[in-house]
Amino acid sequence: MPTTRIVFQLVVQRVAVLSLHTSPLAQPGSGDSGGMNVYVRELSSALSHAGVDCTTFTRRTSAEQPDVVQVEPGHRVVHVTAGPFDLPKEQLPSILTEFGDAVRDHLRGDFPADVLHANYFLSGLVAHRLKHELDLPFVSTFHTLAKVKAEGGDTEPEWRHRAEMEIIACADAICVSCTEEESQFRRLYGDPKGRVEIVAPGVEHAFFAPGDRRGARRALELPFDAPVLLFVGRIQPLKSPDVAVRALALLARPDALLLVVGGASGTEGDHEVAHLQALVDELGLTQQVRFVPPQPHHILSTYYRAADVVLVPSRSESFGLVALEASACGVPVVAAGVGGLLTLVDHGETGYLVPDRDPALFAHYAREIIDHPSHAAALGARGAVRATRYTWGFAAARLRRLYADLGVRERVACG
Ligand code: UDP
Repeated sequence: MPTTRIVFQLVVQRVAVLSLHTSPLAQPGSGDSGGMNVYVRELSSALSHAGVDCTTFTRRTSAEQPDVVQVEPGHRVVHVTAGPFDLPKEQLPSILTEFGDAVRDHLRGDFPADVLHANYFLSGLVAHRLKHELDLPFVSTFHTLAKVKAEGGDTEPEWRHRAEMEIIACADAICVSCTEEESQFRRLYGDPKGRVEIVAPGVEHAFFAPGDRRGARRALELPFDAPVLLFVGRIQPLKSPDVAVRALALLARPDALLLVVGGASGTEGDHEVAHLQALVDELGLTQQVRFVPPQPHHILSTYYRAADVVLVPSRSESFGLVALEASACGVPVVAAGVGGLLTLVDHGETGYLVPDRDPALFAHYAREIIDHPSHAAALGARGAVRATRYTWGFAAARLRRLYADLGVRERVACG
């Protein structure tokens, strides 16, 4: 007997991604450009491959930027003029209305959307307004939160805290990247019932995969037989590159090298670079530390493959893409035991977690890895297998379900 099956398909066709303060097209690794840029670009790409049309709105920061960059079919970046090109990040609150007006006009005109997805609290404030004006569901990914930063010793102004509370009260869904970030969120911000969603970021395995260490070292003109430690990230106090330098000193291996890949970031970035260079000189490590300017994202795989160990000593980390990329390349990670790094690094299995960012412990675990190559290979191999859990395709699939669900859920009514 023939059966009739009714299939309900809830599909969101078009997403407006808000990334006001930094463009997904910017080079990550310095200034305001880091994991969030990679996240926005890779997720939009994966969503568009799955048939979701993605338009990312970002603030124009130079006259050369075209109005629209068509990244690939169904994925474009729109540069929105709002305020002077060189407006410092701290002054961006003054242009939120102008930016919001322009995005609203695009959404009513050439780039309509079914859902708003805001990245970082500045975009969240704009989305909060547009949700009500355009009657659209609103998803927020904070990437960093003031109270989380404060716990790591980096304080943010009170108005940012209030802004984040407003967004939390209005967002129809709040994306966090892992269970650790979720429990941190609930501990610090309470329990917005049914609205916190775990969307784990991914890694592009086509690029970040285990490879030939000798080949990578040849490409980077590094010696074959010296231990190589690697730090990758924006240079600012939050990332604690000084701990990596101190760990190198405590390793007491004059043949070891530390590569520091990245550039100054944030208001204290330049000061941190100067401080780091002074520390290197003071500890007599000038010949052992190489500063490398920010590298195109996919090129970084060569740096990971060249390394014996990747150090991630951050004060706080909502996820920690660098740790994931290193693992995907089969390299053991020694990381601070904070935030998403607690989820990404399996202590003793794929690398090591260090409490209190103790440089002596970073050095101890780095030595453990350098002195025991077969143990290091086992850590790296398990890390690479573990990293296969994370892909941008999985992340996009999770978001597609969330967007579709929001289309039929009752919206959060905020004040
Ligand atoms: N990155 C890069 N080139 C660089 C330095 C960093 O592409 O020279 C990328 C890196 O691959 C990672 C991101 O910047 O994807 C940093 O993300 P993470 O989550 O580690 O730190 P965040 O910047 O979000 O604090």
